[in-house]
Parts: sequence; structure tokens; C-alpha cells
Amino acid sequence: MIQLKSLTRAFGGNRVLDAVDLVIPDGSFTSLLGPSGCGKSTLLRILAGLDQPTSGAVLFDGQDVQYKSATERNIAMVFQSYALYPHMSVRDNIVLPLAMRSMSRLERLPLVTSLLASAKRKRAANSSEVDCIAQLLGLTALLDRKPSELSGGQKQRVAVGRALVRDPVAFLFDEPLSNLDTKLRGQMREEIGRLHKRTGKTFIYVTHDQTEAMSLSDQVAVMMGGHIHQVAPPRDLYAKPANTDVAAFIGEHP
Ligand code: ADP
Ligand code: MG
Repeated sequence: MIQLKSLTRAFGGNRVLDAVDLVIPDGSFTSLLGPSGCGKSTLLRILAGLDQPTSGAVLFDGQDVQYKSATERNIAMVFQSYALYPHMSVRDNIVLPLAMRSMSRLERLPLVTSLLASAKRKRAANSSEVDCIAQLLGLTALLDRKPSELSGGQKQRVAVGRALVRDPVAFLFDEPLSNLDTKLRGQMREEIGRLHKRTGKTFIYVTHDQTEAMSLSDQVAVMMGGHIHQVAPPRDLYAKPANTDVAAFIGEHP
């Protein structure tokens, strides 16, 4: 579980985050929904350890992570540009984070361990860890391709597969669909929903688009002006908006 406790971030006299409290349950799909400039990216950067709060705390499983670097926090940022290596195959892109280490860490991942066990039960005893991840993400037939030979959704799966081998605490997405046309945006939104279900990981998803937040999330945190106004499952935001600001924002884009 990830907890934000009275998180405040000021730039000069400008309080961009003001006493933000939020609980993000393990395995949940949590969206931060709010207009441009309300502090969403600032919150993600603090969570990932790329920026420090002015006051307040970030807790992972009850432990304050203030002195943990971004690497130690092991949060996966999924960038819009995917940051795949064009000259490497899908397989090599996925195992890249482990290339400098032994594969034993990958074998110890709970997710991979259970996938391997199930592969063995199905008498596919020679399945490798990467094969398991590829199967989970529907990349089996694509392992020898180069990123340029993949669709946007497939590239995103590779990026998630690569992050998955590090067994991250959570996946962060910062407006991943904002530059796509409407049709592609719909496809990629479904893709992200599938990835969440398949990996069972905590997804934290930032958007100003309520259709995205409402269709994907277990819980939505509505942010405005550095405050979280309400945290609730999508249907409760419609049925029981906490105040007129939430009602207005939710009502703004039917
Ligand atoms: P969002 O992601 O919701 O659009 P941001 O978190 O990027 O919002 O920014 C929130 C506010 O904080 C904006 O007014 C922005 O200008 C300000 N801000 C963000 N980063 C900095 C910074 N490094 N220095 C000064 N102001 C900043
Ligand atoms: Mg932003």
C-alpha cells in the first residue's frame, strides 16, 4: 500500500500541492483526475522520488521513503515515447534491466515464479522467464521483432514487460494518451486496462480526461488547485460528488 500524508509542495510562495492525503491500495487502478496545472505531475514526481515534498510524507507499506532514491523506490514510469531501444529485439528490450545482473532475481519474482509453475504443470517445462512474461503480455510471437515493427499498443506492452522484470512497487502513467488521435486513444485505453488486469500490479494513472479515469479506475482522486477534493469509485463521483467543484468538473465533460 502507498500512502501520501499531508503532502505539500511549494515553489516559492506557490503551493502546488497543499496537504494532500491519499491511500493507494496494492493492485488497484488509481487515477488522479484534474485540470491542467492542478499538481498531478508534481505529485507523481514526488511519489517516484524525482522531487521532494516541502512537508508531509510518502509511505510504502507504512515505511517513510523520504531517504530512498528513485532507484531504491523501484517505481516504473511508463513514458509516452516508450523509450525502447530501436536496434534491439523485443526480447532484449525486456531483459535489458537484468542484463547487468544475474537472472536469479527474475526467477524470484512472485509473478514469474507462479507463471513458471503453471507452465510446468502444462508440461512446457522448457519455458523461460522471458517466455512467461511474453505470454502474459501477448508478446510471444513478437519476441524477435524490432520496436519499429510493432504497433503503439505492442510497444507499450514491451515497455510494461521491461518494467515488470524489475518487479516495481507501482506503474505510473502521466497522461499517456494525450497526444494520440481519438481512435488510437480508445484502443490504447483498453490496452492499459488489460495490462492492469494481467499484471495485477498497482497502476497510478494521471489524466485530465474523465472518460479515461472513469472507464479504467477502481478509485479516482479528483484534484483541483493542489487539493484532492474526493477519492471514490467512478460511479460514486457521479452519484455523490463531495462538493460543487467536483460536480461541476465531472459534469463539464459528459
Ligand atoms: P499538472 O500535471 O496537473 O498539469 P503540474 O504538477 O505540472 O500540473 O504543475 C502544477 C503547478 O506547479 C503549475 O502551476 C506549474 O507551473 C507549477 N510547477 C511545476 N513544477 C514547477 C517548478 N519546478 N518550478 C515552479 N513551478 C512549478
Ligand atoms: Mg502534468
